[in-house]
Amino acid sequence: MRLSRGTSKGSTSAPPAVPLDDSTMLREIIEATPNAMVMVDSAGRITLVNTQTEVLFDYSRDELLSMTVDDLIPERLRAHHDSHRAGFFRVPDRRAMGAGRELFGRRRDGTEIPIEIGLNPITIRGEQHVLASVIDITERLQVQAIESAKDADRLRSSILSSLPFSIIASDPDGTIVTANPAAERLLGFERGELVGSDIADVRRGVSRHLPLLATRPDAVDEREVDYCRKDGSTVPVNEAIALIGSDDGTDSDVSGVLSVAYDITFRREAEEVVRHMAHHDFLTDLPNRTQLIDRLDEDLRSAVRTGRGVVVALIDLDHFKRVNDALGHHVGDDLLIKMAARLRRLAGPTDLVARLGGDEFVLVLTDIDRPAELERRIAAVMAAVTEPITCFGHEIIVTVSMGLAMSPEAGRDPTTLLQHADTAMYHAKSSGRNMYEWFAESMLDETNDKLEMAAALRHGLDRHEITVSYQPQVCLRDGTVIGVEALARWRTPDGREIPPDRFIPAAEDNGLIIQLGEWVLRRACADVVAMSAATGIPLRLAVNASPRQFHDRGWLDVVRSCLEESGLPADRLELEITEGIFMEDPVHVVAVMSAIRSLGIGIVVDDFGTGFSSLAYLTRFAVDKIKIDRSFVSSLVPMGPDAAIVDMIIVMAHVLGMMVVAEGVETPEQEKYLRDRGCDVAQGYRYSPALTAAELVTSVR
Ligand code: C2E
Ligand code: CA
Ligand code: CA
Repeated sequence: MRLSRGTSKGSTSAPPAVPLDDSTMLREIIEATPNAMVMVDSAGRITLVNTQTEVLFDYSRDELLSMTVDDLIPERLRAHHDSHRAGFFRVPDRRAMGAGRELFGRRRDGTEIPIEIGLNPITIRGEQHVLASVIDITERLQVQAIESAKDADRLRSSILSSLPFSIIASDPDGTIVTANPAAERLLGFERGELVGSDIADVRRGVSRHLPLLATRPDAVDEREVDYCRKDGSTVPVNEAIALIGSDDGTDSDVSGVLSVAYDITFRREAEEVVRHMAHHDFLTDLPNRTQLIDRLDEDLRSAVRTGRGVVVALIDLDHFKRVNDALGHHVGDDLLIKMAARLRRLAGPTDLVARLGGDEFVLVLTDIDRPAELERRIAAVMAAVTEPITCFGHEIIVTVSMGLAMSPEAGRDPTTLLQHADTAMYHAKSSGRNMYEWFAESMLDETNDKLEMAAALRHGLDRHEITVSYQPQVCLRDGTVIGVEALARWRTPDGREIPPDRFIPAAEDNGLIIQLGEWVLRRACADVVAMSAATGIPLRLAVNASPRQFHDRGWLDVVRSCLEESGLPADRLELEITEGIFMEDPVHVVAVMSAIRSLGIGIVVDDFGTGFSSLAYLTRFAVDKIKIDRSFVSSLVPMGPDAAIVDMIIVMAHVLGMMVVAEGVETPEQEKYLRDRGCDVAQGYRYSPALTAAELVTSVR
């Protein structure tokens, strides 16, 4: 018998033929190899095996020599193997099978063995055979499985130790099982000290559950708590609790609890500042309008019980603007600060002094016994405020105009009383300043003015005298126009432009704002779709919504129909509301707001900073954006008091996941300041005034 080894494909020199005169020799060679060796002819018949093959497949040699190679292969793989063998005999070459692939042999008892095969073509007397060496890789696979499990474990633990969150695992009784390095750092413990102690010792009182829970029962339990450090101090954290199910995957059984927490000290501090800011005037630190209304409300309630009156005195400095213009804002600010201090000194222990903004102060007097004494106190205030004040070396004499309203005659609620005091103050001003006036019903006649205005507006709406202009909004990062704010315009037939600051309040007073608002929204949606098509920019649209509209039952349907008719995608519409909305009926407000947001429409809080709400408060109402009031932007100088407020608003808004728009941006300096602080969007005369739709298309193109 003469055997010659096949040549491996691609090899350059043919291996020498092995001369064999005896089949014993071949048998001995294969017997000596550590692997199972099986020789097969082109029909698949087994022609030669070694002892290792007998052991591996659990057949005797004689049995094997009467079998085909298919018998050693699981049925499910036979078809594939047949085609493979046919391919091999067509182009015989040395190759490996099964490396990295799933390949199995079949034992006598039908069990499978994971194997790897090396194939060697051999020509015996001109006939093709294949000599296969078969390696059992069971053990190797087991080792690999263990290694990859170890890798996964290593990965898991390196993730746990590198996460910036404190992670503490405890058993169902609260005993700590393990903690990651961030937990040790946060608490100042060594891991050994934490393990075995009670998680209740780490966690001090729960300060507040986050509202998430109520709306999403599947969410992990999340709340703000205080953690106790080793040195006895506490640190506020946001903590999420997740239950660890038992290994068998049933969740009825809880095998432990994971507490994932992060430090919120910074956020707490910032919230505290914002809360103070929300209730106090930044410049004078007097209570602001919010707190004034709260306090006045209390005072009025107790006045009803005691039968006493409450007097609201609205004090407006005369010609304050002249001080600002002539001597500069720093002098004006100083004057306001000193005037605030003076008023505080004049007030009795139960009286309240507040600043409404600008140069307007309010004095609330509660312990009034005799009318004569009241007049005397008011005269004393008038006299005291006109004493000269020295600011930055300038001696300034200011006079004031004061309007007075007393409950219950002039009103029983804070808003009415303040409004009537305001009416009286305007009377004092128009009667020559430096005087005070008590509110009288007759003063309301002037409101007839407003009524006339309302009547004219009604006609104006019918006759299409109202149009809508669009002021571009610019992305501060790259300067591109991304959207517009719709602003109502009214030009009467005689050509007069009536500013929205005059006709919008009139429309709000008599309810016409519902119609007007609907008209503006419908027009604006249609125009923005057209402007987007003409400019190729998918413009966003911001539309102002007044509280009256917001509380109107039909409003949501109006918004929906405007979107449908125009085809404007809901996520490109934003409704601008003012903080005043939150003051009435919060339950209803939350319901309307969530209905708006579920449509995909954004909510922007307009004129932010002038009203009462703190940012933290706003998070309850799911607000998307805030618009910093233009009074802050216009007085924006680095290091100025308004700069501090703007900085804080931007940081806090971003922490709370809201975008920030600045309105009234007029100068490059303001723009730079805002951009450097990460403000997202800007709007103002620096870019463009409000334009007609046609003008806007031209200016953007
Ligand atoms: P707003 O919502 O705060 O609108 C921004 C106002 O600031 C606009 O005055 C705009 O022309 C003006 N403005 C824009 N850029 C600058 C700037 O760089 N500097 C200064 N000083 N001002 C700038 P406008 O158009 O007179 O509107 C006044 C207010 O009338 C609006 O204030 C808004 O509260 C109300 N309003 C206007 N249209 C509507 C409307 O359709 N519905 C409702 N409910 N209110 C509207
Ligand atoms: Ca607005
Ligand atoms: Ca505004």
